[in-house]
Amino acid sequence: MKHIILFGPPGSGKGTQAELVANKFNLKHLSTGDLFRHHMKVKNSLGLKARSYIDQGLLVPDDVTTAMLEDFLPENDQPEAGIIYDGYPRTLQQAISLDELLERFSLGFVNTAFSFCVPDELLIKRLSLRGKTSGRSDDIDLGVIRKRIAEYYKKTAPLSEYYRKKAILTEINAKGNIEEIALSLELEIRRLSI
Ligand code: ADP
Repeated sequence: MKHIILFGPPGSGKGTQAELVANKFNLKHLSTGDLFRHHMKVKNSLGLKARSYIDQGLLVPDDVTTAMLEDFLPENDQPEAGIIYDGYPRTLQQAISLDELLERFSLGFVNTAFSFCVPDELLIKRLSLRGKTSGRSDDIDLGVIRKRIAEYYKKTAPLSEYYRKKAILTEINAKGNIEEIALSLELEIRRLSI
C-alpha cells in the first residue's frame, strides 16, 4: 500500500492537488481539515473541540487529530491502492504517530513526502480570495490567516528535516497555476515509481 504525504503552509494548494492526484492514481484522499469541518458541521463533541482551535488559527492537539487517523486507517486499508495525506502529519509528533500506526496495522510505510513551497505574500492573497467564496471562517480574518502561517513555520516546517533524514523528501515549487503544479507532482510520482 502506498502512502504519499503532502504538506505545506495554508493556501499552498495541497487540498486541490491531493484531489487531482487521488483521482489520477486511484488513491484515497485523507484531508484532516475536511474531516474536522464535517465534525464541526454536525456539531458533535469532536467538532466542538476542534472549532475552538481552528477558529483561532491554531492546530488541533495531536492526541485529538491522531485518534481521528486511528479510526480512518483500518477502514481504508485497500492493499492495492494507497492513501494521499493532505493535512496530516502537521507536527513531528504526528509524523512519528503515523509511522507507528502504519507499522501497527501492517500497512507499509510512508513512500514519499512532498513539501509545497510558496512565498507568504502569495499565501495571504490566495487565502483572502478563498475566504470570499469558501464559507470557511478561518479564511476570512487576516489575523487568523497570519496565525495559521506562523503555526506552520513553528510546528509543521520541521517535518522537512524529518523526511529529509529518511531520504523521502521532495520539494515542490507551488507558486504556479493548478495545472503546472499538478504536472510536476505527477512527473515526480512517476519518476519515484511509487
Ligand atoms: P489549511 O491547509 O488551509 O490550513 P486545512 O483544511 O488543511 O486547511 O486545515 C484547517 C484547520 O484544521 C487547520 O488550520 C488546523 O486548525 C486543523 N487541522 C487540520 N489538520 C490538522 C492536523 N493534522 N493537526 C492539527 N490540526 C489540524
